[in-house]
Amino acid sequence: MKKGCVFILLISILGLAGCHQHEWIEATCTEPKTCATCNETEGEPLGHEWIEATCDKPKICKRCGEESGKSLGHSVKEYAVTKEATCGEDGSKEGVCTRCGKTVKETIKATGEHSYNDWEVTKEATCTEEGSQKRTCSVCGKTEEQKINKLDHVDDNEWVVTKPATETSSGVRETHCEMCGKTMQRETFELTTEEKNALKSAKNYLKFMAFSRSGLIEQLEFEGYSTEAAEKAVDSLNVDWNEQAAKSAKNYLDFMSFSRSGLIDQLMFEGYTYEQAEYGVTANGY
Ligand SMILES: [Zn+2]
Ligand SMILES: [Zn+2]
Ligand SMILES: [Zn+2]
Ligand SMILES: [Zn+2]
Ligand SMILES: [Zn+2]
Repeated sequence: MKKGCVFILLISILGLAGCHQHEWIEATCTEPKTCATCNETEGEPLGHEWIEATCDKPKICKRCGEESGKSLGHSVKEYAVTKEATCGEDGSKEGVCTRCGKTVKETIKATGEHSYNDWEVTKEATCTEEGSQKRTCSVCGKTEEQKINKLDHVDDNEWVVTKPATETSSGVRETHCEMCGKTMQRETFELTTEEKNALKSAKNYLKFMAFSRSGLIEQLEFEGYSTEAAEKAVDSLNVDWNEQAAKSAKNYLDFMSFSRSGLIDQLMFEGYTYEQAEYGVTANGY
């Protein structure tokens, strides 16, 4: 045993270090020659051995394969268009790389600038539903769809009584959309003095006799009421005109004999509609 080793042995007994044969791991690009057991090093790392970057590969170390930076990319000075791009389809171009001599192909993006024909309505809009329209590119055939906004409702401005007025209570009337029937305006109304009087007269007449709607209005006009007042008054009554037709038919049959069609004609002459007249004769067994 050498003297030095005895010394190291003494130190190791004191727990400070070991005495061994170094197990060297060869130096690499980034690490110096190193002992696997004690990590003691010797000399310097080798440093990378770079191969310069090319068109399609980055700078790379010949020894360890480590890469650095990016590839250069091809360098093409002039491209020739091999296919023109259209609005809907990509085109292409080719050129030669001045660095590596490779032929490089590139896509030319579709322009997206379509040449659309006029809009064609595929569904008409109404006041309750949206419509739709479509247009087509004359070059590539691409179609585009769009909705058409709902139309505005159209007020027919014709007042329809939904709750008749009486001498003592007001009525309700509405106007409607002439296309879909939606209620556009609603208001309450009172009968005028003339209309109230016409209403009283109409009630009196109906106590004694049967009338058709137009017959009763005519009777009130004959009394001197205006057509408007007479109509309002009659429409404020809740009259079943079918029942009136049946009563009229019975009155006629009490005095005279009629054929079915003759009686229907007579009732229509009195102002009943065909349907009312037919109801009236049927109700009397005809
Ligand atoms: Zn060692
Ligand atoms: Zn390396
Ligand atoms: Zn190249
Ligand atoms: Zn197109
Ligand atoms: Zn409408």
